[in-house]
Amino acid sequence: MELKKAGINSKLVHAGEKVECLGSAVQPIFQTSTFQFENAEHGARCFSGESDGYIYTRLSNPTIKDLEKAVAAVENGFDGIATSSGMGAINTVYLAYLGSGDHMISTDAVYGPSRGIMESLYPKLGIESSYIDTTDIQKVKDAIMPNTKLIYIETPANPTISITDIKAVAEIGKEAGIPVCVDNTFCSPYLQRPLDLGADIVLHSMTKFINGHADIVAGMIVTKTGEEYKKIRAIMTNLGCNMDPTQAFMTRRGLKTLGIRIERAQQNAIKIAEFLENHPAVAWVKYPGLKSHPQYELAKVQMDGPGAMMSFGLKGGFEAGKKMMDHVKLALLAVSLGGIETLIQHPASMTHSKLSKDSKEAAGITDELVRLSVGIEEVQDIIADLDQAMK
Ligand SMILES: *Cc1c(COP(=O)(O)O)cnc(C)c1O
Repeated sequence: MELKKAGINSKLVHAGEKVECLGSAVQPIFQTSTFQFENAEHGARCFSGESDGYIYTRLSNPTIKDLEKAVAAVENGFDGIATSSGMGAINTVYLAYLGSGDHMISTDAVYGPSRGIMESLYPKLGIESSYIDTTDIQKVKDAIMPNTKLIYIETPANPTISITDIKAVAEIGKEAGIPVCVDNTFCSPYLQRPLDLGADIVLHSMTKFINGHADIVAGMIVTKTGEEYKKIRAIMTNLGCNMDPTQAFMTRRGLKTLGIRIERAQQNAIKIAEFLENHPAVAWVKYPGLKSHPQYELAKVQMDGPGAMMSFGLKGGFEAGKKMMDHVKLALLAVSLGGIETLIQHPASMTHSKLSKDSKEAAGITDELVRLSVGIEEVQDIIADLDQAMK
């Protein structure tokens, strides 16, 4: 059967670009920095691009290529560009599309450093940005300026779990001739495929759901077209934020079980969201699988499931948030997300503590907000742990 027509779990297991190597069932780790040419003519063809032979690992490597092709296959994209981290992927995209005098529009409640670096380093390069509530499509339209060169969205957003309509933003981008990039880390391609919805570029922190075992930091960019692919790859190789072959091997292994891990964590998350919604210490719960989520209907259309990420507000505010963090026993008090273990954190005192009070308020990152990444443990154990910590 042709893999292109296969279901997503088959692609997760089998897609990629495996090199025939002594019958090895998986792509081996090609832990080499450089590749020997057969002769001068072969070397010349590799450099001119007539041959797709490998040259040097910063440019490409078979273990990394296998992972890039596999993620591109599940995102329905042209090809992938692996990076050393999610931030490597984000900065590569920023630098591929933005130069002095340009402007970017972005979701306000994005991953902290995605916004932090844009507001600290990029202004020094003459690059401006507007951070807006992209759940409001009119605001996206209104933010476009003659020098807008990139629309960057994150959905569901971190840590507010707000959902932006990818299709609607992609249409605005197309009309204005501005590329649209989606940070798809919170869903992974198992639950959401932005390129199918019209986006031009999708990126991931594979540190999270794709690798899924809290033992690797890694990033990936997937493009819809070959043209975008070439443009972004050139920036990545020259910046030098390439992946390492062992990192690629580990991530490819994690990718194989993405489907079953997400299904299990999501089943747990649905039950936990219901438990929290009925808990006396909880003021509100934001989870795409609850009817109370403001974009519940959009989530049903855009995502293949509500996922394993949620945030909730404690009636006791900032102090209650900090106190709860000190009393969890099964859940790990840690940043990051998307792993097999349940992780909990308090953005106001941790990940988003560097944002100004105004930026935090504008982005909906309130003092009582607790973020939960649900793992694959027994659901009754996670519920019991949260319950005792809130008590
Ligand atoms: C973690 C994360 C990143 C950054 O990824 P690193 O792998 O830590 O560099 C970017 N976006 C989102 C949504 C994330 O959760």
